[in-house]
Amino acid sequence: MSSGQDTESTRAAIAVIGGGIAGLTTAYRLAQRGHRVTLWDPSAQLGGQAAAFSVPGGHLEFFYHHLFMSDRAIVALIEELGIEDHLVWLSSKNGFFADGKIYSLAGARDLLSLPIIPFIDRLRLGFVTLFLQKTTPQGDRWKKFERVTAWEWLRRASGERAFDRIWAMQLRAKFGPRAEHVAMSWFWNKIYLRTQSREGLLGEEKLGYIMGSFNVLIDRLAGACREQGVDIRAGCGVNEIKQVDGDKPRFEVRDAHGRAEIVDRVIATVPSPVLLRLFPDMPEPYRSRLTSAVYQGAVCALLRLDQPLSDTYWMNIADERLPFTGIIEHTNFIGPEHYDGNHYVYVSKYVDWDHPYVTMSDEELLDEYVPKLQIVNSKFNRSWIQQHWIFRERAAQPIISLNYSEKIPAHQTPIEGLYLANTAQIYPQDRGTNYSVDLGNRIAELVDGDIARTKADRG
Ligand SMILES: Cc1cc2nc3c(=O)[nH]c(=O)nc-3n(C[C@H](O)[C@H](O)[C@H](O)COP(=O)(O)OP(=O)(O)OC[C@H]3O[C@@H](n4cnc5c(N)ncnc54)[C@H](O)[C@@H]3O)c2cc1C
Repeated sequence: MSSGQDTESTRAAIAVIGGGIAGLTTAYRLAQRGHRVTLWDPSAQLGGQAAAFSVPGGHLEFFYHHLFMSDRAIVALIEELGIEDHLVWLSSKNGFFADGKIYSLAGARDLLSLPIIPFIDRLRLGFVTLFLQKTTPQGDRWKKFERVTAWEWLRRASGERAFDRIWAMQLRAKFGPRAEHVAMSWFWNKIYLRTQSREGLLGEEKLGYIMGSFNVLIDRLAGACREQGVDIRAGCGVNEIKQVDGDKPRFEVRDAHGRAEIVDRVIATVPSPVLLRLFPDMPEPYRSRLTSAVYQGAVCALLRLDQPLSDTYWMNIADERLPFTGIIEHTNFIGPEHYDGNHYVYVSKYVDWDHPYVTMSDEELLDEYVPKLQIVNSKFNRSWIQQHWIFRERAAQPIISLNYSEKIPAHQTPIEGLYLANTAQIYPQDRGTNYSVDLGNRIAELVDGDIARTKADRG
């Protein structure tokens, strides 16, 4: 990291709003460059969507998390912070639940022997997957995927039978009524990136995990921020951002305790609608870009069981009787021996925010889930559940619609000195912790460059 601009003349007071991975990375990088950074987050627990909490036997993320081998920015940060001994890469036991049975789906060989569709369809599916894996993000070839929905492209390429049995169910499980509107660019990138986690196209997939939970990274990153002088105000969100009149960018940031801070730059790492709430006077057409950002929410149950539900880590669901997007049995990835013998299972559901699961009580949700889990494992019994938690996240997954690249709001808003860096700007890759680190690195460089330029221009 360059410290060439680390002089009093280029130091600025910077507000970072949001203490998720993007906010913490941004704050760290800007402080490394000599700026005076303050970071706010309403939650006492930093880390946003990637945060973990204490469970019997250790710590676990509120929402299941792993890394792909293509996640280079976060691995570089883990190494830079000296916590690489926590990072493990392990084979992932993937499965596919259909017709009341779990089929292993560890690689291309399993796909070719998946009996739920005829062999000719499997072969076709294999070619489609290979074609998507071979389309790289370099160059413009992938851009044709921006102009067609995944629904339409996959139906055409894979054929009706394979599409209905495999892809349609998964698109519906993740995007509900919006399944038919998601751009093929989103789907292609998911397939492409997963190839990068395999040793060879036919190879086994390896996934990464931070032993001790993602909190190990979050806590170390927050520690590194503090060592660089960042003032972290965890447990206190920002309520309002106001421009201060004058010949250079200046803002008043007012927090939930009513305290106001004057800063030269503001970087919001919150979802797009939240920025609009904090700064309602956003001019058009930028304003419309923020209001048109659409997110799927997530409702995620974490169950502590006294025995395993299955032998699969990541279970995709292609069975209409099950309302879930996926069942992720964490302890089939990182064994129960690391959690005092407890078995941990996430039951995940992506939802529109008006879905009944959002407002149902935790007990009602559990009543709804238990009989469905018995479809996955007929022996499963409610008495296996030793403890349960339900977590909800409103801006879990930005919906990537057609021609998305034309809809992304720029990092620099129309207000000089006010920036946005959030998951809806990650594209064509799908959101993820790696891309939030990358976002933090890039936004810090952009803001630092702008500060140096503004100061040079204004003498
Ligand atoms: C169910 C689920 C599973 C996932 N699985 C994976 C996975 O396996 N691997 C992976 O890499 N990624 C995964 N992700 C995605 C990953 O967690 C996120 O993409 C990433 O953590 C986003 O980080 P961020 O900092 O950009 O945003 P966020 O984590 O959303 O952070 C935004 C922060 O802003 C704060 N904030 C909100 N309002 C205010 C305010 N008024 N003032 C101040 N602060 C405010 C919030 O409290 C939050 O901390 C998953 C996400 C979900 C929901």
